Amino acid sequence: DLIETKHPLLPKYLRVNTLTTTFKKMVVALEKDGYSQVDINENEIELKQFSVDPDISNLLVFNPKTDLHAHQLYKNGSLIFQDKASCLSAFVLDPAPHTHVIDACAAPGNKTSHLAAIMNNTGKLFAVDRDRDRVKIMERQLQKANVQNCEIINSDFMKLNPTDPKFQKVECILVDPSCSGSGIVSRDLENQKDTNAEVLKRLALSKFLKLKFYAWTSCRVVYSTCSIHQEENEDVVKSALKQNPFFKLLEVMPAWTNRGIKMVNYETQKCIRCDPAVNCTNGFFVALFLH
Ligand code: SAM
Repeated sequence: DLIETKHPLLPKYLRVNTLTTTFKKMVVALEKDGYSQVDINENEIELKQFSVDPDISNLLVFNPKTDLHAHQLYKNGSLIFQDKASCLSAFVLDPAPHTHVIDACAAPGNKTSHLAAIMNNTGKLFAVDRDRDRVKIMERQLQKANVQNCEIINSDFMKLNPTDPKFQKVECILVDPSCSGSGIVSRDLENQKDTNAEVLKRLALSKFLKLKFYAWTSCRVVYSTCSIHQEENEDVVKSALKQNPFFKLLEVMPAWTNRGIKMVNYETQKCIRCDPAVNCTNGFFVALFLH
């Protein structure tokens, strides 16, 4: 689920959890612990150094070999291992404080706690996931991260009723469905074991999901995957736009140079892609719809 970058060549990204600390306090704590802040290329960061990511707020970049799992700042939930690509979804959705938000495929909750941090624990966050075991992990993760504005719903997102009064104020939805995971560099070997049938099944799921988020009106919707396959990314976006004239694509992070693959008659280059060689992250895709 792109929780952590594990590939030896990719930098280690740690998100400062602003629900338990502040960015300034974190920098002071790290410096006190012998880490020095540097302003250099991601690939040149040495051990005991870190830099501040230029694109995502509250994201720190470390040397690939950095291991802070035993560190108090990790144990107390102030630092969260999260690949930069994985941080893009909540960053792009960018829910305003006090809004109501659904995280439709939430477990184990990395993006949920990021959303809660952006909302500063205000408003309402519904974290939906159909997998009971993963929901249990999410419960622990959200507690550790001091998330207080969240209601966990252990259900299939498809089974939620968009007209249920409790969802009437929902303005933002994050859809981060199960996918082939083909963008995850550290899982290359595992991916090679994927049979075509299995990949196709997962593709079908993401296509299915996109159909259902039509039902939710007046929403900003982020659709993201950790896949590099066009079938799971631009093709899904194209079908969504084709089937619903009320859906509009919004330009994601205009300064980001790695754009979605162009498709005739569809503005899929408004979406963004991540590529290990270009962006020093795992492979990823983000689309932003307005409904
Ligand atoms: N967003 C998560 C994070 O950042 O930690 C990772 C989500 S993972 C890629 C996909 C999740 O979607 C899985 O936990 C899976 O159980 C869930 N899922 C897949 N289809 C679903 C559905 N129809 N309704 C609810 N959850 C679903």
